[in-house]
Amino acid sequence: MITKEKINALLNEEIIAAKKLFSRPWAHEPLLTANMFQHKRYLGLANSSGEISINSLFLNTSAIELLSNTLRHEICHLIVGVQQNHNSKFKRVASILGVKDNDEFKELTLITSQIKYKYSVVAHMAGGKKVSLGGVHRKTKKYTEYNPKDRRKMTIDGVLIERFEFINN
Ligand SMILES: [Zn+2]
Repeated sequence: MITKEKINALLNEEIIAAKKLFSRPWAHEPLLTANMFQHKRYLGLANSSGEISINSLFLNTSAIELLSNTLRHEICHLIVGVQQNHNSKFKRVASILGVKDNDEFKELTLITSQIKYKYSVVAHMAGGKKVSLGGVHRKTKKYTEYNPKDRRKMTIDGVLIERFEFINN
């Protein structure tokens, strides 16, 4: 299980490994203690003070591989400079450090499943069936202004969706 101590231990391991590959001074010298933060989308953050923050949703999960990948991604920001964002310079360093897309990790569901959505969306199908479409944070126009007579009508397995319903979570 991931604890704050485990995160800091991994952070230090990843910094040592990255320093071997990038021995010249980094844009931001890394701090050796990670900060924790809460967010619905971001897994990690890095700032120009060299501080890496990790989403507290990682705590008490077993998503170690995803955590290492997130730490490595944030380390890349410290190497190239946070102002470079995810540009080509960043991508070059990220590929050398073996950073992958979060979507490549099955462990991602251990994190996303904890995120509490404001609403659940239910599609009411022609014929009376209901299909649950999962959680959303906002009532988007895609659903609220939906018109089944419009040419942009939506279907699931060929069945027309007649309307959407939001259920408060
Ligand atoms: Zn990033």
